[in-house]
Amino acid sequence: MTAILWLRRDLRLDDNPALMAALDSDQGVLPLYIHAPNEEAPWAPGGASQWWLHGSLRSLDEALRQRGSRLRIERGDSLAVLRRVIAESSATEVHWNRLYDPEARARDARIKQALRADGLRCESHKASLLFEPWEITKSDGQPYRVFSAFWRACVKSLAHPRPVAAPARLPATAPPSGAIALDDLQLLPRIRWDQGLQSSWQPGEPAALALAERFLHAQVEDYKAARDLPGVVGTSRLSPYLHFGEISPRRILALVMDAFGDPTSEPVESFVREIGWREFAYHLLYHFPQTPTEPLEARFADFPWSSAENQGALDAWQRGQTGIPLVDAGMRELWHSGWMHNRVRMVVASLLTKNLLIPWQAGARWFWDTLVDADLASNTQGWQWTAGCGADAAPYFRVFNPIRQGERFDPQGSYVRRWCPELARLPDSHIHQPWAAPQPTLRAAGVSIGGNYPAPIVDLAASRLRALAAYERIKG
Ligand SMILES: Cc1cc2nc3c(=O)[nH]c(=O)nc-3n(C[C@H](O)[C@H](O)[C@H](O)COP(=O)(O)OP(=O)(O)OC[C@H]3O[C@@H](n4cnc5c(N)ncnc54)[C@H](O)[C@@H]3O)c2cc1C
Repeated sequence: MTAILWLRRDLRLDDNPALMAALDSDQGVLPLYIHAPNEEAPWAPGGASQWWLHGSLRSLDEALRQRGSRLRIERGDSLAVLRRVIAESSATEVHWNRLYDPEARARDARIKQALRADGLRCESHKASLLFEPWEITKSDGQPYRVFSAFWRACVKSLAHPRPVAAPARLPATAPPSGAIALDDLQLLPRIRWDQGLQSSWQPGEPAALALAERFLHAQVEDYKAARDLPGVVGTSRLSPYLHFGEISPRRILALVMDAFGDPTSEPVESFVREIGWREFAYHLLYHFPQTPTEPLEARFADFPWSSAENQGALDAWQRGQTGIPLVDAGMRELWHSGWMHNRVRMVVASLLTKNLLIPWQAGARWFWDTLVDADLASNTQGWQWTAGCGADAAPYFRVFNPIRQGERFDPQGSYVRRWCPELARLPDSHIHQPWAAPQPTLRAAGVSIGGNYPAPIVDLAASRLRALAAYERIKG
């Protein structure tokens, strides 16, 4: 008799409630991953996410083998595969941890119903959030739309049961008969564009835990001051690990509490609050499942975007060739490493949606394909927030000025110099606005505007006024 552990975006053994429930059944445990990207459509993992997934599955299989088990990999319709594996292994139970994307929720509900009708015990568990999206609601039962109120409610019940560590041994599973090898999933790109990802990341649970411990030991005390500076490593970079469930937010919270006690006071409050933003993003996605494509603020449906004539601008933005250094640095960091600093995500998103008036959905889609931490809840929230149409959004009239943002958060231009090396020899005073530098300064730095670095594709002041005028038309 066997209990199947259906693994999805919970690719870890530590603090894994579905694993613990499967073990509690006192039967063999069969860890199973089913590759079914079409079931997540239109949000099947993008290129960078697929790269990460490959590394993550390999790491998980290693961890399982070290404990006497192994990962069974399958491909195809999830319900059909589950039924086949259930029949082969005489399984009586199936356990999984919950997902919250609309497509996955619908699929999982259908599968749970079907397997229960087949006579199986079939349970889903909470693993990737501190709070289920339905656990925290306003007193009238409605979902929150303002982060500060949501987080105040969460903080009251932050004390969680201690996470259960990864078991030292697992029951052996019979060698799979029809299973396929990880490489057969063809998650790695055929044309190897992934060198930047390889040099930036190590997917997998051991790396996640080591990173969290190192961050809490050496960096979190500076987080409040450093988190806005893209030129320094001031944030945890845990986002892809959290997305793929290689570490749980409960484990992070437990590490914080072990090291610092109260998670709601400095030096850790600012960091824990960001984990709260992730919870809020899931709360919103769950209660407003249309928001990956539609604005939460309905009046933005009539916003006069100018997408038709703007393909050239979208291309320049994607390639980091806008002529605006902080934006180009961010877009190149994204292309190279699959990640971008949060402050710069806001700046590039603001340029796209406000100065260029390109719909936020086009930017969200590009991020979806290129981010290793592409996450439907956080990406939707980040884009809608910056575009001004989401919950608790920045007021529309607050258009980020990439020159001021650069001068304030990258004052010596170290971030820009790293990602736009053609500008590296400019003095600090001109690094964020090279087009305004005197010719002799440009010549001395080896910069030619319109030559080795583009002229700005948009006039920042004029386009800001155009954006405000567009907003006036829907303000109501
Ligand atoms: C336009 C835009 C798109 C974004 N797309 C994504 C995305 O696809 N996936 C994603 O994980 N984050 C996204 N974010 C949020 C944020 O930029 C990243 O979570 C953060 O940069 C990850 O870096 P870190 O792990 O070093 O964060 P830290 O500052 O160390 O924060 C710790 C953790 O808190 C969570 N977190 C931090 N900030 C946010 C936030 N604003 N919203 C939600 N969760 C947050 C993340 O899980 C992060 O790993 C987006 C933000 C914007 C403005």
